[in-house]
Amino acid sequence: MAEWLSNLSGKLRNFGKSVTYSKSLTEELAEVLDPSDARVAIRPLGDDWLCPFTGKRVLAPAWNGSSLTLMKCKAITDHLTSQPELQKLGGRAQLKTFEELVQIAVNWRLSNSPNFKLAAPDGEWVCPYCLQKSSILLKNWDGSATDLDFFIPQAWKHLKDCAQYQQDPVSGAKSVQEIEASGGDRAKVSNLVENDPRFRICDAEGSWLCPYSARPVARINLKREPWGHELQQKIVDYVMSPDCPGKYSQYNVERTAGELKAVAAKKMATM
Ligand SMILES: [Zn+2]
Repeated sequence: MAEWLSNLSGKLRNFGKSVTYSKSLTEELAEVLDPSDARVAIRPLGDDWLCPFTGKRVLAPAWNGSSLTLMKCKAITDHLTSQPELQKLGGRAQLKTFEELVQIAVNWRLSNSPNFKLAAPDGEWVCPYCLQKSSILLKNWDGSATDLDFFIPQAWKHLKDCAQYQQDPVSGAKSVQEIEASGGDRAKVSNLVENDPRFRICDAEGSWLCPYSARPVARINLKREPWGHELQQKIVDYVMSPDCPGKYSQYNVERTAGELKAVAAKKMATM
């Protein structure tokens, strides 16, 4: 082969190689998306993916949530390849910080996730991480939701100081069922009524003795009604109502069973 021809064919071969070896945008971005990086597999609402480059929420119900399968999901690769700034930067694209991404994800949840929007019966928000009832009003007195613009900044004030949130902000939130079972005042009171013997004391007529006020409540009668779920719920309803002073002690009973029994017995003696 003539030398010039051999040179040309070599150049063409190299040209062909350089085309074959140039990485596609998805390949370049896949290299930046390190599967061991906590930022790459955040799901704000459970059926989606938080793009760590753009901070945009991408609907991706088909994705299984694993950082290893990201690039197999078409919704995700479609998003990545359609972003002008990513097309421009390719493998030089930068991920947002973990704090920025968490803030975006939690804002989505505060606006949309049922477990981030639970209120105690008095309308106050229950934190899905620590399960404590806050003093933040989520529901108005008439049951309508308060303005998100008001609620979200208040919730953030709590989250910044919430130890359980700090521990695992992305996946540390409890489910609706878990929150209802252990969080909020009603759950606390239900638990007390079921298990604390101080909620099972009555006077001679059977009138239930409220352990917060140490006064008998005639409309709840432990002698006429069997002790069970229905009666217990009646007591919970009473305790949660404005008639009961329980809320002023955060539903903690300060009197001992002995004191309460003595009150009940004295009541009997005066009759
Ligand atoms: Zn909390």
